[in-house]
Amino acid sequence: MPTMLEVRDLVHQYGTGPGAHLAVSGLSFTVDEDQLACIVGPSGCGKSTLLRCIAGLIRPTDGSVTLHGDAVHGVPEDLAVVFQDYSRSLFPWLSVRGNVEFPLRTRVSGRAARRARAMEALEWVGLADAAGKYPWQLSGGMQQRVSIARALGSQPSLLLMDEPFASVDAQTRAELEDLLLRVRREHGSTVLLVTHDIDESVYLGDRVLVLSRSPAKIVADLTVDLPAQRDQITTRGSSTFVDLRTEIARLLHDKQSGQAGPTNGSSHASDEALAAERFLAAEREEASRQSTR
Ligand code: ADP
Repeated sequence: MPTMLEVRDLVHQYGTGPGAHLAVSGLSFTVDEDQLACIVGPSGCGKSTLLRCIAGLIRPTDGSVTLHGDAVHGVPEDLAVVFQDYSRSLFPWLSVRGNVEFPLRTRVSGRAARRARAMEALEWVGLADAAGKYPWQLSGGMQQRVSIARALGSQPSLLLMDEPFASVDAQTRAELEDLLLRVRREHGSTVLLVTHDIDESVYLGDRVLVLSRSPAKIVADLTVDLPAQRDQITTRGSSTFVDLRTEIARLLHDKQSGQAGPTNGSSHASDEALAAERFLAAEREEASRQSTR
C-alpha cells in the first residue's frame, strides 16, 4: 500500500527559555493508505501535540509532516479531525444534517450534492433518522457519531482521531469502537487514532505505536495480528489480544519505572503479567479521573 502520511524527525517545544517544555522529541513514522494506526501513550506524553502538528494546527519546532507526498503547512483540505469533546466541536445552532454538510461547502459544489453526501455519511453511522434534530437533542454517543459522520462525509485522505471515545460511558464506547471498525471495513479510510487506553489501541488498530512519557518518543511499533472482523467479547478474550496488551503495558511500565527495554529473562513471566495488569488498572483509574473532571 502507498504511504499516506509521513512524519519525519518531528520535534515540538512549547515556549522558549527556562520555561520551555519539550513535548515531542524526534518522532518518525509512516502510515499506509487504508491503515488504522493507533498511538498509545500515557496522559501528558505528547499525543495531542503530535496530532495537532500533523493536522497543521500548530507548526512543529522541527521536522516535517507530509500527506500523500505534500508537505503539511496549515490545515490540509483533505484531512478531518475528530476530537474527544464532541459537545464543543458541533454547532448547536445547526441541525445534525447541517453540521455534517458544513465542511462540504468548500468541497462539494451544489446544495443537492452536499445534502446527499451528508445523508450518506449519516446513514453510515446509523443516524439518518436524526438528520433534522439538533445536537443538544441527542445523547453524547449520538453526538460523537455526528462528529464521525461529519469527518467521514468529506471523504478525507486521513482521519485523525484524538481520544474520540474517552468522554462516553463504557457501553457507548464499545458501540462507537465497533462503528468505527464497521465503517472502515465497508468504506475504507486511513485513520490515525490516539488513545491512552491500551486495550482500545489493540482492539481498533492494524498497528500500535507505543509512545514513552513526555517528551514523546516511539518505544515500539507493533503489528496487530487480529482479523479485520473483531468482536468485543471473543477478540478481547483471544490470546493474541491479551499477549499484545500485556506487551504494551509492560513497555509503558518499563519506561515509567526507568527499566530499559525488553527484560532479559531474569524476571518471572507471571510477575511481568502482574505488573502489567497493575499498570493497566492505574492507567484506567487515571483515565476515569480525567473524564469526571
Ligand atoms: P497528551 O495528549 O499525551 O495527554 P499533550 O500533547 O496534551 O499530551 O501534552 C504534552 C505535554 O506538553 C504536557 O506536559 C503538557 O502539559 C504540555 N503542553 C501541552 N500543550 C501545551 C501548551 N499549549 N503550552 C505549554 N505546554 C503544553
